[in-house]
Amino acid sequence: MSNYSNRFMSALARQDLASIRQVPKSDLHNHFVLGGSRDYIFQQTGIKIPSLDRTLHSMQDMHEWCGKHIGLGHRFDTFDLHKVLLEAAFYQAKEDGVKILEIGEDAWANAKYYGGDVSLLVDTFFEARKRIAPCTELRLQIGLSRHCPVSLLEKWLEPFWGRKEFYSIDLSGDELAQPIENFAPVYRRAKSHGLQLKAHIGEWGTAEDIVRGVELLELDEVQHGIAAAGSQAAMDYLVENKVRLNICPRSNVKLGRVDCMKNHPIRVLFRHGVDVTINSDDVLVFDSDVSKEYLRLYRHGVLSADELDAIRLNGLGLG
Ligand SMILES: [Zn+2]
Repeated sequence: MSNYSNRFMSALARQDLASIRQVPKSDLHNHFVLGGSRDYIFQQTGIKIPSLDRTLHSMQDMHEWCGKHIGLGHRFDTFDLHKVLLEAAFYQAKEDGVKILEIGEDAWANAKYYGGDVSLLVDTFFEARKRIAPCTELRLQIGLSRHCPVSLLEKWLEPFWGRKEFYSIDLSGDELAQPIENFAPVYRRAKSHGLQLKAHIGEWGTAEDIVRGVELLELDEVQHGIAAAGSQAAMDYLVENKVRLNICPRSNVKLGRVDCMKNHPIRVLFRHGVDVTINSDDVLVFDSDVSKEYLRLYRHGVLSADELDAIRLNGLGLG
């Protein structure tokens, strides 16, 4: 792997994106319907998705942008077109040298796209991986939307429990939609099935929200979690409890959570000893493929090439 480290660090120093793409990386925070390749979607459907040309101000603002410019919620609503988005995510991973890709389907989507048949859902994911990105490990995730009533989530989750193909569970969406403790029963059940426990916290919320969420849901990983950088106590807590933060820098800037890339809190978190990884979030919205994320952090002097390589290795389980 040291050979790759040398290649990676020298590619960063040369600001050579094509060479960065050839080095193995992970993407552990990727919402696949928004995580695919524009080129692949265009080739398959003729649909051109524009780049984001402004800062977004809220999750609502982002959903409106996605509805208007990507057509999410109507344009890709059939099984076949939804599958194109999945294929586009694997194509993106392959083109970007992503060797571990953690993606999955929201629990509600099982009924909408797969007729409630979890086996079809699982097979669709693994077949697309094998066909498009056979060298990429798929970590299959179950997604939960924070605004959904817990009773409905529990109903949708029933057919998922006990399926060994799933690696993790993640809670995403509006952090302020309902108190995180509402999800504790779901997470207890997920833990009993051996799933890796993740949730989006500390993107819009506070450092205290992160600690509270980790304690209440017994999380292994937090998606974003950048608010922890403002609190020594929260960072100490994450270090002591070996909680990982899967961070998406460009998303944080484009959603106005961080004022500019130069000041991204991943520097503070990493140098404090917090376990961090670098990820894409939503490639189609933020133009945030993983290689570009590393290069942007390097260009803006946020972290050194050595530090970025340590984070890369950590994401691959080689740290
Ligand atoms: Zn996310």
